[in-house]
Amino acid sequence: MEVPPVDKTSKDIRGLDVQSKVDRSNGRCEIRSDVKTDIEYLCEAVPELSKFFHIVDKIGEGTFSTVYLAEAQMTSGAKEKFALKHLIPTSHPVRIAAELQCLTMAGGKENVMGVTYCFRKDDHVVFVMPYLEHQAFVDVLGSMSFEEVRRYMFHLLKALAHVHRFGIIHRDIKPSNFLYNRRLKKYALVDFGLAQGAPDTQIELLKESMAVNPAQRSVFGERNLNSLNPSEGAVVKVTLVKPTRVEDVAARRMVLPRRRPTPAGAPASSSSKPKASSLGHGLTCSCYTTDRVCNVCLSRKQQVAPRAGTPGFRAPEVLMKCPSQGTEIDMWSAGVILLSLLSGRYPFFKASDDLVALAQIMTIRGSRETIQAAKKFGKAVLCSRDLPAQDLRTLCETLRGTRPCKGGAVPDKPPEPLNVAPDSKEDPGLSGSPPKQQRLQDDARRSLASRTDPAAAVEEDPADRKGWDRVPDEAYDLLDKLLDLNPATRITAAKALQHPLFKDL
Ligand code: ADP
Ligand code: MG
Ligand code: ZN
Repeated sequence: MEVPPVDKTSKDIRGLDVQSKVDRSNGRCEIRSDVKTDIEYLCEAVPELSKFFHIVDKIGEGTFSTVYLAEAQMTSGAKEKFALKHLIPTSHPVRIAAELQCLTMAGGKENVMGVTYCFRKDDHVVFVMPYLEHQAFVDVLGSMSFEEVRRYMFHLLKALAHVHRFGIIHRDIKPSNFLYNRRLKKYALVDFGLAQGAPDTQIELLKESMAVNPAQRSVFGERNLNSLNPSEGAVVKVTLVKPTRVEDVAARRMVLPRRRPTPAGAPASSSSKPKASSLGHGLTCSCYTTDRVCNVCLSRKQQVAPRAGTPGFRAPEVLMKCPSQGTEIDMWSAGVILLSLLSGRYPFFKASDDLVALAQIMTIRGSRETIQAAKKFGKAVLCSRDLPAQDLRTLCETLRGTRPCKGGAVPDKPPEPLNVAPDSKEDPGLSGSPPKQQRLQDDARRSLASRTDPAAAVEEDPADRKGWDRVPDEAYDLLDKLLDLNPATRITAAKALQHPLFKDL
């Protein structure tokens, strides 16, 4: 790795100088005391940092890292800004090295963030990256023109095509990991903290042999779904049915079917096992097609499959714990981003757990279609109601408020969605009451998307619809191909870049 172009001979050891941060109001400002404390802590943990950087502010804080804005005096005399990502000290060394390897090998080009340097002292690791000032997605979403959306997607897909060429599955594609500087028209994919290797990966540390075992990996974000209270799943009437091996069946809501669908590609031997004995205890499941989870099902072993990422962006095969997952999962997440961009709603899917997320996907893409796709990757799904697939243009235009009414006029206000997130913890008795369940399902459907910046959309000059009154069919065609429920047929990033939507780019 290259040594950073930082003036190391400088005698001016620049530590913390909180007074220098300029405020708009009085020219000087105090950094919030908790931020100041964090900066002091970092400088103490990695004293070397202070030799090169003046840490100005904290710009990001997640479960696995804290990101700071820092300035450095370059040999040329110019000041440059950097982002310092301080990883939580409990991160697994192999994971840290793998994240760094993704940045060094794939980063620095094609809209993928690069890395300048890395500091380590004891268990503290800090990645130094060029700083890209960026806007929060919610702050720009409401005012983006269709053309801007088209370009944003093009650049996101460019980054994805690039990392996928390296056999990197990013696993956490979402707006906060795709930095966007509107003014400079710059984009950068960040955060390889959850990345995994595709079978052909060129990233040595993402290869199978280097994989951190699942128990250790929990440190990196795979909250164990199966350790959650099983009653949590009871509010949504979506059931995953795993028809083959018992050990593949997760504890929650996964029950054996009476009628056994034959999954494509499932070995004939396993699917021809007798039903009752396949439970292993000589017990028969009594909860199939009911709202409850029987004791037999509660005692099932969980299925282990990667499921890192953010619920609302998880692909159906991730939600259904498909053990073999590839770069297609990132394409689904890109589709969810495009859905937000076209509908003007963020977050689009707000799900507290994987089955709620799956139910929400079904309300958009259809329950039959989801069941059909799941079959192809060896999963069986039950849904209490037949939810028709929605027309994507109608959906997006309705949510955005640009859909012409019967008379041809565009409504001045987008419809108000209900803000009801199905709270799984309340009312455990709910599962036995069909009307209430029906209502919850309807609520779930209406709460799919939240309004973002309603003022921006409606208070503009009605003549300036920013291209939203003439969104070409290609946009919805691409959305349809990204949100393909079946990973085997879902569009790849390389193909998506060739899509007619981008013909002039
Ligand atoms: P985490 O793993 O904690 O999510 P990220 O790498 O996603 O860490 O960084 C968290 C946030 O820090 C990002 O959402 C972004 O706002 C900011 N950030 C990260 N890298 C940079 C960078 N190079 N330039 C500017 N901001 C950055
Ligand atoms: Mg992140
Ligand atoms: Zn059961």
